[in-house]
Amino acid sequence: MPPSPPSPAPTHPELHRDAYIDGAWVAGSRRFPVHDPFDGAVIAEVTAADEAMVDAAVAAAARAFAAWRHQPAPARGRLLGQLAARMLADEDRLAALCVRENGKPTREAVGEVRYAASFLTWFAGEAERIYGETIPSAHPGQRITVIREPVGPCALITPWNFPYAMLTRKLGPALAAGCTVIAKPAVQTPLCALALAELAHQVGIPAGVFNVIATDEAARIGGRLLAAPQIRKISFTGSTGVGKKILRDAADDLKRVSLELGGNAPFIVLADADLDAAAAGAMIAKFRNTGQSCVAANRFIVEEPALAGFTARFIERISALTVGRGSDPGVDLGPLIDDAAVAKVRHLVADALDRGARLLHGAPPDGKTRLVAPVVLAGITPEMAIWREEIFGPVVAIRAAAGEADALAQANDTDAGLVAYVYTRDGSRRVRFAEALEAGMVGVDEGLVSTAQAPFGGVKHSGLGREGSRHGLDDYTSLKYIATRISG
Ligand code: NAP
Repeated sequence: MPPSPPSPAPTHPELHRDAYIDGAWVAGSRRFPVHDPFDGAVIAEVTAADEAMVDAAVAAAARAFAAWRHQPAPARGRLLGQLAARMLADEDRLAALCVRENGKPTREAVGEVRYAASFLTWFAGEAERIYGETIPSAHPGQRITVIREPVGPCALITPWNFPYAMLTRKLGPALAAGCTVIAKPAVQTPLCALALAELAHQVGIPAGVFNVIATDEAARIGGRLLAAPQIRKISFTGSTGVGKKILRDAADDLKRVSLELGGNAPFIVLADADLDAAAAGAMIAKFRNTGQSCVAANRFIVEEPALAGFTARFIERISALTVGRGSDPGVDLGPLIDDAAVAKVRHLVADALDRGARLLHGAPPDGKTRLVAPVVLAGITPEMAIWREEIFGPVVAIRAAAGEADALAQANDTDAGLVAYVYTRDGSRRVRFAEALEAGMVGVDEGLVSTAQAPFGGVKHSGLGREGSRHGLDDYTSLKYIATRISG
């Protein structure tokens, strides 16, 4: 379907535009604009944090840590639960804000608010279960006890594609564990993080426990935050290149680092698969957030006998998608986040066509608007950039596989290892693929793997550490072993 015509901008809710430091809103001397991705209109001018604000936020988080870590864990959990409830009570306003600065359709924005709140709910419960252990000692008269302590003030760096959920996936376990935080949201989407700070303030999360600073100078201001000696842990979600730099820089001060980085997910359809189920799963895996997701299916690998059947079913579903402003009713795909994102998708499509890919559906984006209608390409070869890089847009790249071994080899032929999807009815193949795929997560006949209950994260160049599940707390706690002599 062609993009729908522009419609008038919706009125937007009250916005917080200043930094949130030590429980107060702090205006700076300089501001930067936040744009609506649909038409580039300026939504708000947000305070650009300067060095003094970074230092004040770090000092506040360090001060607050002393008391917050000693709050009873159920009390910390209760506040997280209240923040989740507050988010859900306010989901329409929060979703409208997300649509405005991120561009995603309203239905998806509401889904994101609920998904984001689910991490707070989950870690509200987990706060009470930060268990230690006792271990039988090899030495008479000695007791071995292990306790889990919060690592300290944390810096949380988040991307624009899920501006609430990528923050709460870190905020939940950090606060549950007794850590304090300073969040630095992406330059495109600071307003969602600031809205979350407002709600945290309302439910009574103490001053200094959760601070938010925004900047349009990520390397300089973000760098100062990450280098502060009081910061004992960095949790970063974003691109692999920036993640590697952050890991290198953190080495000097031996800070703990968690990295949730880019993916290049294979979506494998084997000859015996239920092709309707595969096409349905592919819609979710490919088109959520207009393809701008780290777990987006990037490489469709289809066993020869299933190629025609799967492709026809997939294109039939894709043909029903509508593209437009996220706030318009019935829109499935919103605009891409900015002009650079459109340029990248255009380049990947042009490169594939130049190298011999076949256009099965849609047309190469013309770059006149940030609305990009779905494109389906077949005849993909491994030299094409579209096979090597994250597409981050609504473009489907399909390559045939000669059999099971070929499909697996193609799937693992990448530095990335975040998620892989496989569709097959054969029980043995399900196990073989799930175990042989080099990825931190595998969807078996399942196109959506993200949920608060499961450990989210990658292997290879897709990251270090896990978010969500009970394992999500590990990155925010240190084990302390106490040897006690109980008799002379
Ligand atoms: P990005 O450019 O790496 O930015 C991510 C965050 O890092 C932003 O807040 C950014 O600030 C900040 N940043 C950039 N350079 C920095 C520096 N030198 N020091 C400190 N902070 C710095 O990534 P993106 O383009 O926003 O996000 C898309 C990427 O994130 C994709 O690769 C996607 O796969 C990945 N992602 C991964 C997951 C996961 O869970 N594995 C989830 C979502 C997204 P500015 O915005 O101000 O530049």
